[in-house]
Amino acid sequence: MTKTRTPVSRRYPMFYVWSYGMGAESTAGLLRMLTDPAARPDTIAPDFSNLIIVIAQTGDEWSTTGRLVQHYILPLLRRHHVRLVEVARSGPRRADGVAVLQDTRQPYRLHLDGVYKLSRENRVTGTMPQLGGVRKCSQKAKGAPLDAWRAREFGDQPYLHAIGFNADEGARITRDAAYSMGGRRIPTYPIHEWGWTRQDCVDYLLRELGVVWPKSCCRHCPYAGNRLGWPEQRARFAALPEEAAQHVIDEYVCLALNPRSGLFGPGRSLITRLRRDQVTEPVTLAVARMKTMPWAIYRVRRLYHAPANAIRSVDRVLFAGHRTIHTELAEIGRLSGIALTRNEQIAGAPVRDGDRDIHPRLWLRRRSESTYPTLEEFYTVAPALAQDKELSTFAATWATHTDPVLARLEHRAEAAITAVHRARHVAA
Ligand code: SF4
Repeated sequence: MTKTRTPVSRRYPMFYVWSYGMGAESTAGLLRMLTDPAARPDTIAPDFSNLIIVIAQTGDEWSTTGRLVQHYILPLLRRHHVRLVEVARSGPRRADGVAVLQDTRQPYRLHLDGVYKLSRENRVTGTMPQLGGVRKCSQKAKGAPLDAWRAREFGDQPYLHAIGFNADEGARITRDAAYSMGGRRIPTYPIHEWGWTRQDCVDYLLRELGVVWPKSCCRHCPYAGNRLGWPEQRARFAALPEEAAQHVIDEYVCLALNPRSGLFGPGRSLITRLRRDQVTEPVTLAVARMKTMPWAIYRVRRLYHAPANAIRSVDRVLFAGHRTIHTELAEIGRLSGIALTRNEQIAGAPVRDGDRDIHPRLWLRRRSESTYPTLEEFYTVAPALAQDKELSTFAATWATHTDPVLARLEHRAEAAITAVHRARHVAA
């Protein structure tokens, strides 16, 4: 049965949906709309009955942003009886659906933890959000739940959709405006229409609230590492080491599995950046936490068809505590006759800020920088957070590319692992 949806009023027949990202632009826009009737778009009813503020939680936002919104914005929504909807994705797949964390005109708190955190998805795959491309992380953790909620809520009914792009974000507006959801979504960009830059929004919030409003972003956002963004992000890592430390651990695992995967690009890791800037507490905490975690010896294989085009297999071959696993990797190296290497420059990543490959590795094959297809295979150790993963076709594809030299090394490594595994049982 089709749900019948009632427009708010004859005069204001369309819902006005404000996608609230909690950053300076969307906060300034929201504040001005609520407090300055002259600036308010005439498509919003004076009693705000057709206005809906929607937030998508990635699960990894800094707690300080949430506290500011709770302190300055939620009381305003309560006073004006404005509807707030907070959503988050329920799982890694689109089919897992969207959870509504709250839907109320009297909001008192936010749910920054979301449901299925972006960092949890990355942790399972041993990856971090990536720079460049189409910001898949944002599409998955913010765009998809917001789209799904609007589609469910409005069905065929058209609605206005406001986004806080600033005066300098014409390119993003051009991209966003092309997305109409079959004509139902009518986009609008109030901040851009006012001609406000990001700095105008920050200045406005400072004047109105007496607060330097921070950028809203995930703690492990790769885009926060640029020249303008890093000072603010660095200050948050220094001020909130408890919530930052898990992302340091995640990057450690990610770098173990792929030495070219620094958070801010190849050769640009978060860990090195924090050490360089003497923000030591999150790193110290991360190291202490890692020592209490289960660790694994990972076998990592990649088949590159082109420089950034690879299929990958990750396989945890032995589990143990921190000390034991390091000893066992060294023993596997000794038994197989494959040298254990560390502190090397990172292949395929220009050395910046002193980034080096700090992870001990047994290299069976290093990839070629110039000839494709090319193989890469090594064993290394890290906390056992990443799950085993390979495509169903990987083994067959790998076998067709393996040469006798690599096959012999693989055989020696596997025999050494079996011997180490047996030795455990004898010792027990
Ligand atoms: S804040 Fe950064 S990491 Fe988080 S979803 Fe957006 S682009 Fe991705």
